Amino acid sequence: MPSPATGTVRQLGLHIDGHDVPAASEATFTSLDASTGEVWARVPDGDATDVDLAVRAARRAQTETWGAATGYQRARVLRRVARLIERDQERLATLEARDSGRLLRDTRTQVGFLADWFNYYAGYADKLAGRAMPGERPDMLVYTRNEPIGVVGAIVPWNAPLLLLVWKLAPALAAGCTVVVKPSDYTPVTALALADVLEEAGLPAGAYNVVTGFGPRVGQAMTAHPGIDKIAFTGSTETGIAVGQAAMQNLTRLTLELGGKSAQVVLADADVDNAVNGIINGIFLGSGQTCMAGSRLLVHESLHDEIVRRVAARARQIRLGSPLSEDTEMGPLVNEQQQKQVLDRIAAARTDGAEVVCGGGVPDGLAGLFVAPTVLTGVESHMPIAQEEVFGPVLAVTTFSTEDEAVRLANDSRFGLAAAVWSQNVHRALSVAHRLRAGTVWVNTYRAFSPGVPFGGFGHSGMGRENGLEGILAYTETKSVWVELAGRTKDPFDLG
Ligand code: NDP
Repeated sequence: MPSPATGTVRQLGLHIDGHDVPAASEATFTSLDASTGEVWARVPDGDATDVDLAVRAARRAQTETWGAATGYQRARVLRRVARLIERDQERLATLEARDSGRLLRDTRTQVGFLADWFNYYAGYADKLAGRAMPGERPDMLVYTRNEPIGVVGAIVPWNAPLLLLVWKLAPALAAGCTVVVKPSDYTPVTALALADVLEEAGLPAGAYNVVTGFGPRVGQAMTAHPGIDKIAFTGSTETGIAVGQAAMQNLTRLTLELGGKSAQVVLADADVDNAVNGIINGIFLGSGQTCMAGSRLLVHESLHDEIVRRVAARARQIRLGSPLSEDTEMGPLVNEQQQKQVLDRIAAARTDGAEVVCGGGVPDGLAGLFVAPTVLTGVESHMPIAQEEVFGPVLAVTTFSTEDEAVRLANDSRFGLAAAVWSQNVHRALSVAHRLRAGTVWVNTYRAFSPGVPFGGFGHSGMGRENGLEGILAYTETKSVWVELAGRTKDPFDLG
């Protein structure tokens, strides 16, 4: 962890080429403890100069050390990273909870996942084989190589800072790439804390660099930097489009993991107990601040009243409180702007005709940036509350009467990150699942994910996939090698 701490306010440095350093401009900004609202870290406010230094360090490590290591050597380091993360789980989880406002019990689980991601991709590091292919001509040997794409710029948001970083970092390192990270300015601390763990595990200096600062300065400098070969971005669709446009100027490779408005489709024959639990999980985990939030409930008209009554009853009982308390089930939103945006969207939905069944505002008796778990009925598909990502604990409920209508409503969205189908009839469930335009479809469950399963969006939910085999191939370039075997390269103009 960058040091030293002064009082309770940590003084952190950028992490460049294995060193914790101030920004070239020496500017800093403060990061707040999400549970108390107090300043708990002072962080360098980086700019294009710092990005350039980090990219140069990453390039050196890519060509001279990490990128030159064998897959076997990289795998050993990544397995050590996994072990050290397990050792440091509590420390990293506490830092993450304080910085992001997510529940400590969530961040513990998420830090546990980080080790899984490093172990999984360590398994690919020594197995990234190209393939030999039979050619038309017997005198040629042709094979492919999966070469590291080079220097990766990882731009990550505040809602699950470490997990979303490691979805990029583990496959990038396994492939032999080196990385420059820009964490969100709301949650800059844990990306810096990870540097110590990585380097203790044996990652060479320069393979992992962190430039803290603000999106319009550090983020833009990264997307415009010709020394960055790939940008891996998670965040809002609007910023993702700007990132993509900037990256295209240099034909920088891209993976975009963007917003969602995922539908939970509850068919008439669904198991209601399971569906209610899945709906609660889908929308209220992480206070609704997750890209895969199941924020639209499309429910068959015959089940509407029962499901809404039971979801609202559980929503009213959700224990709100400090992210650090073991009893808390839902914490605050990340910042005032986010709280205001969520409240504004609820107010607009009411004006449009939606009815508040529970929640709908700031809960009584709680200091902090809370929004009560909210269920809105009478939502029609054209309303902004059904179309725009709220990124808060707000469920928009719409009914349908036929499966065709359910599919049409679910697909009536510019997004396509995830969806769920609830039905006890496997034929019906799968027939609907296959018609949904979404990168992930869960059947009778919600929010399952794993390092081995590709994740990403259709439409405005993104471009490319993270995780699984697709996740590591996205950090490689394919090279085809042709070898003439017979020693008879002909003069091209000799027709004989
Ligand atoms: P952004 O998409 O603006 O930010 C995501 C990351 O991109 C942050 O690190 C941010 O830095 C950086 N960034 C911002 N502007 C640029 C830029 N021009 N070039 C390069 N990088 C940039 O999300 P916000 O944090 O502002 O949240 C806004 C909304 O986005 C939320 O309300 C939510 O709806 C959605 N969102 C969706 C997420 C998802 O997982 N799908 C995750 C986070 C947000 P900085 O934080 O310093 O501005």
